[in-house]
Amino acid sequence: MKTYPRPPFPAQEQTVPGSQRSMQPSPDCGEHSYKGAGRLKDKVALITGGDSGIGRAVAIAFAREGADVAIAYLDEHADAQDTAQWIEQAGRQCLLLPGDLAQRQHCLDLITKTVDTFGRIDVLVNNAAYQMTHDELEDIADEEWVKTFDINITAMFRLCQAAVPHMLPGSSIINTSSINSDAPNPTLLPYATTKGAIANFTGGLAQLLGRREIRVNCVAPGPIWTPLIVSTMPKSTVSHFGGQTPLGRPGQPVEVAPLYVLLASDESSYMSGCRYGVTGGKPML
Ligand code: NAD
Ligand code: MG
Repeated sequence: MKTYPRPPFPAQEQTVPGSQRSMQPSPDCGEHSYKGAGRLKDKVALITGGDSGIGRAVAIAFAREGADVAIAYLDEHADAQDTAQWIEQAGRQCLLLPGDLAQRQHCLDLITKTVDTFGRIDVLVNNAAYQMTHDELEDIADEEWVKTFDINITAMFRLCQAAVPHMLPGSSIINTSSINSDAPNPTLLPYATTKGAIANFTGGLAQLLGRREIRVNCVAPGPIWTPLIVSTMPKSTVSHFGGQTPLGRPGQPVEVAPLYVLLASDESSYMSGCRYGVTGGKPML
């Protein structure tokens, strides 16, 4: 069995949105291990936050399964270029789409550009997110609360609304929720609240879109080693990140990606409206 890094990790701190290139150890996004089998042959996917972390692992997996991939990200051009290189090495096309998901027009443009470039959209992975650690309720500025909702859940609504008219029966929407949707970390109050909203939104939207044969699911990761962590959590938390899970370590993005492949593929044709955990042994309700 392959072994993955365990805490303690080197103390490190970055500014938002973080850089995967600067992380120690480097997150494993399946660059040297994921093997595709044509499970998404000639599908087109848009992945938000596809430059790094879980989104990058999903992008690499999707490309190796035969999909063309558009990647939305804030401004981490170096990380996005690295992901694009892996997609192109898999023999698929990559479209890079930087910009702020808090802007409504940007959300609409992402769908238009994906469809204009590839002629269709079969899979929408709503995976980008913002979080910040706050120890006290009074430390959360009103703007911070609104910003967290804009990026994490309002953008998801806008992207779904814009994408669905282009989606054929069999298409799939996959949202990234979190174990925080079930067991909120109090120091991540605005973020955890949006992750609960995402799980609820997923269940409602799946029922709304069932008749059109568009499936909607969400993935709820536990602690995963990504730039989000080193750019939003204190050094001491980062050093021991994932150590509290039954498996005693954080997951790597490559360990989450296969679930997204399943949910995007026709193999999951009766799976819709659910939240699936990847938590390193921590039970969810
Ligand atoms: P990540 O930092 O690699 O990915 C998050 C991405 O969101 C960034 O790459 C960034 O480009 C994008 N983003 C942030 N703000 C944006 C904005 N305003 N506009 C456009 N894009 C923006 O980290 P990750 O951990 O892979 O995060 C992916 C998803 O996984 C997120 O939804 C996160 O909540 C979720 N998640 C992560 C963990 C974990 O422990 N890492 C646990 C549970 C859930
Ligand atoms: Mg990033």
